[in-house]
Amino acid sequence: MSAKIISGKEVSAQVKERVKAEADIFTAKTGIVPGLAVIIVGEDPASQIYVRNKHKSCAEMGFKSFQYALPETTSESELLELIDKLNNDKDVHGILVQMPLPKGINENAVINAINPKKDVDAFHPENVGHIMIGDYSFLPGTPAGVMELLASENIDISGKKCVVIGRSNIVGKPMAMLLLHKHGTVTICHSRTKDLPSITREADILVAAIGKLGFVTADMVKEGAVVIDVGINRTPEGKVRGDVDYEAVAGKAGYITPVPGGVGPMTIAMLMQNTLTAAKLSIE
Ligand code: NAD
Repeated sequence: MSAKIISGKEVSAQVKERVKAEADIFTAKTGIVPGLAVIIVGEDPASQIYVRNKHKSCAEMGFKSFQYALPETTSESELLELIDKLNNDKDVHGILVQMPLPKGINENAVINAINPKKDVDAFHPENVGHIMIGDYSFLPGTPAGVMELLASENIDISGKKCVVIGRSNIVGKPMAMLLLHKHGTVTICHSRTKDLPSITREADILVAAIGKLGFVTADMVKEGAVVIDVGINRTPEGKVRGDVDYEAVAGKAGYITPVPGGVGPMTIAMLMQNTLTAAKLSIE
C-alpha cells in the first residue's frame, strides 16, 4: 500500500484564498484592514524564518503587518510594555509573540498580557478555556491546520481511535481536544507513556508532535492509518524533516502528510484566518 499524500501546500493555498476573499468583503464594508503585530525577541534562526513567512503571508492577504524585532537583552517589563501598547492600538487586531523567548522572560506572563481578543495564537488561558468548552473565536494555528487537512480529505473522525503523541500546550493538548470535539476516541501519549508502539498501532488517526527526527517508524503504524506529522526537525545534512519515518510509513499508511509541505504551511494559513477573525471581533 502507498499512502495518499495530503498536501498542506495545496490546502493552505485554498484556506488563504478563502480568507483573502472574506477579508476583501470585510474591508469593503467596514474600511478596516486586518493588522497583525509580530514580536520576536532575540536571534533564534528558526524563529526568524517563521516571522518572515508570517510577514509574507500578511502581504499576500493585503493585511497590515507590524514587526517588532527586539534584542536578546530585552527585559520582561519592556516586552509587557510593548504588548500593552499594541493591546490599545486600533490598527493592530492580532498580536503574536514568537516563542521560545529568551531565558529570564516568563512566557506565561507574556501570554497572559495579550488581550484575549487579539490573541491570534489562542494561547491565553481565556481562549484555552473557550477551546475546552468548544465555544471559541480562535483555535491555535497548528491543531486547527491539522483539522483542515483531515477535512480536506473528508476523513471522518467520529468514533475513530485517535492517538496524539505529544502533550504541549501549543500542539498536543489542543490537538487532542479538537479531535475529541469531532467525536474521536482520543489517547494522548508522551515521554512517560509505557509501550508507546502498542498504543500507536491501534490508531486510525495518528498525530506526531514530538520534535524527534523519524521517531514514528512503520512498525508503530496500523495498515491504512491516517498519519499527520507535525514535527519540524533538521537532519545532520540540514534538511527539514518530520517526526515520522516518511518513506517507510508512507508504504503502510492510508494517508500521510509530508515535511516540509504538510502541517507547516497550514499553521500560517490558520493564523491569517485568526487575524481576520480578530479584526471582526474589534468592531463587535
Ligand atoms: P514540545 O517539546 O513542547 O513537546 C514535545 C512533546 O513530545 C512532549 O509533550 C513530550 O512528552 C513528547 N515526547 C518527547 N519525547 C517523547 C518520547 N520519547 N515518546 C513520546 N513522547 C515524547 O514540542 P511542541 O512545541 O509540541 O512541538 C512538537 C514538534 O512540532 C516540534 O518538532 C516542533 O518544531 C513542531 N511544531 C511544528 C509546527 C508546525 O507548524 N508544523 C508548529 C509547532 C510545533
